[in-house]
Amino acid sequence: MKGRFAPSPTGVLHLGNLRTALLAWLFARSAGSAFLLRIEDLDAGRVRPGFAEAQLEDLRALGLDWDGEVVRQSARTSLYAEALERLPVYECFCTRAEVSEAASAAHGPVGAYPGTCRGLSEAERAARRAAGRVPALRVAADGPVVTFVDRVLGEQSGFVDDFVVRRNDGAFAYNLAVVVDDAAQGVEEVVRGADLVDSTPRQIWLGRALGAADLSYAHVPLVLGADGRRLAKRHGDVTLREVAPDAALAWMAASLGLSGSSPRELLAGFDPAQVSREPTTYP
Ligand code: GLU
Repeated sequence: MKGRFAPSPTGVLHLGNLRTALLAWLFARSAGSAFLLRIEDLDAGRVRPGFAEAQLEDLRALGLDWDGEVVRQSARTSLYAEALERLPVYECFCTRAEVSEAASAAHGPVGAYPGTCRGLSEAERAARRAAGRVPALRVAADGPVVTFVDRVLGEQSGFVDDFVVRRNDGAFAYNLAVVVDDAAQGVEEVVRGADLVDSTPRQIWLGRALGAADLSYAHVPLVLGADGRRLAKRHGDVTLREVAPDAALAWMAASLGLSGSSPRELLAGFDPAQVSREPTTYP
């Protein structure tokens, strides 16, 4: 079950991110599988120079290893463009405010795109362009409900609305890039934070629309700070700059009920079926 970890280089990895990386590594290595690392640096507005290197350094400092070259999404945009050609997409001129207004008026599933731009004629699109609006691209997904069994969270399902695959600033959307890359890299198992579980039905739909094989999913619980909110900068610095790698690993191991002083040593006691679905609190 080839696995991967795919951080976005928008900051230094904190203990929550590192615990997710360790779990992704444990899932893959305990099955004797390859483990890949991919840098998800498509969101030019949020990516900062130097963070990708710092993230790789921190993963190494914890004792994690990976197979093959680290790939960067920013070098792979021709793959995403090619995938777009194979999808039923349409131009969407809506602003965020218009989407949420129309969505609440339509009484559809919360946050779902109500299809405002789906039926626009060429003349209507031209008028919007002439008014200075730049379109995003959405896929026409037809609103199916997609169900899957998560290895940690159990059965999950979600409504797939017409979602954005290329933003109006030209950037390929996370959902598109992640699906194209997982398929192109032969990834079979996705282990990532539970904050991304809501994106999964869309990604499963997209993978199927592109003819990719279904993947296995494990969404692992987030690490919360003492205030019960998910770990973030506001909790102070909880990165390997402040917590030494061996202390960080010891805390992660204890939070997983494992013992050992390196990721390899943790493998002996690791059982994917025993990963708790409850969040952990740090410290
Ligand atoms: N790049 C995403 C993030 O850092 C994770 C993508 C994924 O694992 O699918 O939140």
